[in-house]
Amino acid sequence: MISRLVPPHIAAIDPYPPGKPIEELERELGIKNSIKLASNENPLGPSPKAVAAVREKLTGLHRYPDGSGYYLRRRIAEKLGVPMEAVVIGNGSNEILELVIRTFVRPGLEVIIPNPSFLVYQLAVQTVGGTVVSVPLRDFTIDLDGILHAVTERTRLIFINNPNNPTGTVLGEAAFRDFFDKLPADVVVVIDEAYIEFAPQGSTFDGLDFTGSQGPWVVTARTFSKAYGLAGLRVGYGIMDPAVAAFLHRVRQPFNVSTLAQAAALAALDDDDFLERSRGLVREGLEMLYRGLDALGVGYLRTHTNFFLIAVPVDAKKVYEALLREGVIVRAMNAYGLDRFIRVNVGLPEENERFLQAFARVLERFER
Ligand SMILES: *Cc1c(COP(=O)(O)O)cnc(C)c1O
Repeated sequence: MISRLVPPHIAAIDPYPPGKPIEELERELGIKNSIKLASNENPLGPSPKAVAAVREKLTGLHRYPDGSGYYLRRRIAEKLGVPMEAVVIGNGSNEILELVIRTFVRPGLEVIIPNPSFLVYQLAVQTVGGTVVSVPLRDFTIDLDGILHAVTERTRLIFINNPNNPTGTVLGEAAFRDFFDKLPADVVVVIDEAYIEFAPQGSTFDGLDFTGSQGPWVVTARTFSKAYGLAGLRVGYGIMDPAVAAFLHRVRQPFNVSTLAQAAALAALDDDDFLERSRGLVREGLEMLYRGLDALGVGYLRTHTNFFLIAVPVDAKKVYEALLREGVIVRAMNAYGLDRFIRVNVGLPEENERFLQAFARVLERFER
């Protein structure tokens, strides 16, 4: 029995539910032209500058990538006004989260994770046998006081997703200042800012303000997967004190970010036009979706990101299934403990419209 060879903390993991390829779903359901609003991806596609940069690198694919990520790290550092040694790039920001966990956590140590938040935090902590300490949200917002109360001598790491996936809520500067004042120095705080580009300026706290203090140590994680439209390439980065970065480098693979991913990210970073269009599309799309849902009399959570939670009158899985048959892929929030919510990301205007129409039909069918 193979399961006897697997350590209990691995056997206990509930794997992240991967969706099927759209093509396969369509084949099974006998539908066409479905739209995906389930993974918070950028409906504009990738930055055109990134695509051009990738093309240029294709003939060099027989070489290993630059293991130091020199040009990308240098440009990120310039843009953010931090030393290059403070920047670690990763195979998606997911890898940054994992590197921090593998560097600091071992069995017997605790990691505080707000709930519901990004599912990956918990999974990654479980793979190293750390103890997850779950702190419920309050009013759908991360509860910093609750986190402070949960801190013990065994706490090594705290995850804060700002804005938070799946609720779309943000924490502001004042709350964070108070939090950091009260936090013991010997913990590492990961502030995952995967959606910070969508948050209206000034509405959210920027983790960089605290990076590089004496402790509590702050790692700010960001990604090219969302606002920059490069989810398929897998590239993100973390900003941290260079002393922290030096330990992450011991844990990471030597060539963790591919040549194409580095080139694309470097080009996307300076594509201000694309970023502005992405933000505008989300802003306008949300207005449209809010208006449509108001007209349907459906409840939802106003968001600071490119996705939001919508209340549904029956089990979210049923709504998910029904929308799927309409060719609209959303996320049921059951795995997050929100059985009466779906999460939908903003699409192109015509996709938003299709969602609203399909959703109206589905609600009708469930006879509210
Ligand atoms: C999408 C997302 C990320 C980004 O993951 P990548 O590995 O960079 O694609 C990180 N955190 C949260 C909360 C996310 O939703």
